[in-house]
Amino acid sequence: MNRERLPYELEASWKEKDMADGRTVDVQVLIMRTNGCCWAKAGSGGCTMCGYRSASMTDITEEDLNKQIDLALSKYKGEPFVKIYTSGSFFDTSEIPLSIRDRIFREYSGCRRILVESRPEFLTPDLVSTLPGTLTVALGMESSDEEVLRTSVNKGFTAAQSKAAGELLKEHGIGVRTYLLLKPPYLTESDAIEDAVRSARFADSFSDEISINPLNVQHATAVERLWKRGEFRSPWIWSLIEVMKRLSGTVNARLISSPSGGGSQRGVHNCGKCDQEALAAIERFSFSQDPRDLDVQCECKSTWERYMRSEKLLGTADDIGRAFDSDLMIR
Ligand code: SF4
Ligand SMILES: [Zn+2]
Repeated sequence: MNRERLPYELEASWKEKDMADGRTVDVQVLIMRTNGCCWAKAGSGGCTMCGYRSASMTDITEEDLNKQIDLALSKYKGEPFVKIYTSGSFFDTSEIPLSIRDRIFREYSGCRRILVESRPEFLTPDLVSTLPGTLTVALGMESSDEEVLRTSVNKGFTAAQSKAAGELLKEHGIGVRTYLLLKPPYLTESDAIEDAVRSARFADSFSDEISINPLNVQHATAVERLWKRGEFRSPWIWSLIEVMKRLSGTVNARLISSPSGGGSQRGVHNCGKCDQEALAAIERFSFSQDPRDLDVQCECKSTWERYMRSEKLLGTADDIGRAFDSDLMIR
């Protein structure tokens, strides 16, 4: 039985490792319950792959948010890096009011690094000039292709806006982590690889880190409807490895990826036999930046290559592995 979701509880919290000042450190990760993303609530339907609408609540008060912070602090063990996610934008005051933002920065002022996420429209020059130097803002740019953003992701802002926000943050000495979406819907596997590589090159000048996020099919999303009809396949891990290999050594930003749902049908996956090894390789590379860490062997690599040739010849981004037995794919 599902437990009732209470407005004064954190959505989730856990500990993980990440980098701060060039070193691997412990991280406290918090997902706060807020009133949710303004874009998802705006009647736009939100981004096509985003399931946060069903995760957020309404009528969350400042008192609730203060209790969530109390809870977070009771679990805090002095980790040098803290990530504070909401189901939207940290700088949207209808999610995180000013007093709460100030309290978070005050309580975590001893941290070496704090990471929050925001849509670019909230990052005004007045705001950015007041932010602590330990802050990194994650920008969900997804793609540098304006057409992909508009028709495939329904992002509601442009890549040019992300770039302007990234440059503004950098001018003020604030860190930037840019998220790119690997395989927005309607793109073939090979187009998705090209899109991610192009987007990373575009983001490099204003990003300290570029996180490649393979699409994970979430519940009650537009992408889930396509996926159920066989019109979408989550990307192959080989594609993620390919993107990392092609970018490695050619961009200044640190390349990272920690796929959610990796190895499942909804998340980035290969044949099932090599998935864990391939995901471990991606994780190692995210820390080391050494492309040799991406060396993975499995016979399904040739199936992935055939998959891409087949979808090109058939002119479709549908899940052709589901439509045909993979042996029937073009060799
Ligand atoms: S992906 Fe981000 S901007 Fe898009 S609907 Fe979800 S929370 Fe909002
Ligand atoms: Zn395999």
